[in-house]
Amino acid sequence: MELTMEKIVNLAKARGFVYSGSEIYGGLANTWDYGNLGVELKNNVKKAWWKKFIQESPYNVGVDCAILMNPQTWVASGHLGGFSDPLMDCKECHERFRADKIIEDYMDEHGMEIEGGSVDGWTKEEMVDFINDHDIVCPSCGKKNFTDIREFNLMFKTFQGVTEDAKNTVYLRPETAQGIFVNFKNVQRTSRKKIPFGIGQVGKSFRNEITPGNFTFRTREFEQMELEFFCEPDTDLEWFAYWKEFCINWLKTLGITDDQMRVRDHGKEELSFYSKATSDIEFLFPFGWGELWGIADRTDYDLTQHQNTSGEDLTYFDDEKKERYIPYVIEPSLGADRVTLAFLCAAYDEEELEGGDKRTVLHFHPAIAPVKIGVLPLSKKLSGGAGKVYEMLAKYYNCEYDERGNIGKRYRRQDEIGTPFCVTYDFDSEEDGAVTVRDRDTMEQERVKIEDLKEYFEKKFDY
Ligand code: ATP
Repeated sequence: MELTMEKIVNLAKARGFVYSGSEIYGGLANTWDYGNLGVELKNNVKKAWWKKFIQESPYNVGVDCAILMNPQTWVASGHLGGFSDPLMDCKECHERFRADKIIEDYMDEHGMEIEGGSVDGWTKEEMVDFINDHDIVCPSCGKKNFTDIREFNLMFKTFQGVTEDAKNTVYLRPETAQGIFVNFKNVQRTSRKKIPFGIGQVGKSFRNEITPGNFTFRTREFEQMELEFFCEPDTDLEWFAYWKEFCINWLKTLGITDDQMRVRDHGKEELSFYSKATSDIEFLFPFGWGELWGIADRTDYDLTQHQNTSGEDLTYFDDEKKERYIPYVIEPSLGADRVTLAFLCAAYDEEELEGGDKRTVLHFHPAIAPVKIGVLPLSKKLSGGAGKVYEMLAKYYNCEYDERGNIGKRYRRQDEIGTPFCVTYDFDSEEDGAVTVRDRDTMEQERVKIEDLKEYFEKKFDY
């Protein structure tokens, strides 16, 4: 089976995973709304992250910080003043692109050495000169007629309060990490954690991306699941290796296989100036390899920046060693929407069954499956007893009750939305107090007493 994005997008729309945003108004470019199944799937993904990274971790605790932050935060982080993108437009076809990227691609293609590995340090004039002096044309129309470079900041800007003037400008956060850094002292005090410890957060981030696309892979509004793990200087590389392994295992336990992912370690020339080590965990999407998870050793950069900008002491005192220092930080940062898309792609399969039948099936790990159990009475006449089974199971799991159509079609429908188990209530159930449980992947069926169902499923859904 060849998996295409078209198949994923169509299934997502038809079954209620993801719709395009503001559809009745003709949409809003690159916005997506999660539907009745999508919200369950993404919530389950976030829950699975929280369970392993926060709840079960002896080291980590969580926070949930405001999206709007004091703008000084962004001065300290480098997002204001620092990381702005140099944009250029083609005067012929109005295609927009990043001048730095087009230069780097050109140099790469022509085997030219870039000092320091990137053109980050170049001025606007240097970029314009390079583009004019070389055979660089618009990637879209092939002509050579460009505007000047404009500095572009990826942060969404808005105003707090009634007056829209500069002093009321605030930004939507472009990452959740900074809320953690500014609360480092608060959390350390209230949680009474000693280093090493981590703080995690799940929440929305906003980036005015120039080239969003590939469905929910890159959007301007997205959710992140970030951990900032604080450790003693000189122990950072060990913790970096520890968390990298931990992240890979999390993906594996939820069903991503070795051939669907790879780890890409950044070379020296690619590292940010403050980072000692960075690795990306990439997933093989239908459109190619794409970054899922960025794991970075950020040294003491962030806390030092915030200490210098705020004037607050952000050092940590180690009671045992009687030493004071600014902790080092390991940051595994994962996109909730991206990894949800990866799980959807990884789960998708079209199977040829005995007798020539075909079925589309999503092999979700039970922990992330949006519907856990389908409750299906064999006949509408059995809705009384089947309804009771549904009520009992719905207390613990997101279940779907479906009594319409023939049982084979109802199984296929549950397969297609990735429901790991179906419970069929038949005429014998009235007599023997038992139901048939069908496994999505093996399609095997077994008879289970209704009174044992709770315990039976507890084991199946253990994660
Ligand atoms: P990319 O190179 O894909 O733009 P990045 O290196 O800028 O990503 P980070 O700043 O490291 O990304 O963000 C951490 C994670 O957040 C990414 O690995 C990704 O999963 C997610 N993420 C970042 N930008 C977006 C976006 N525009 N849409 C969806 N997810 C995103």
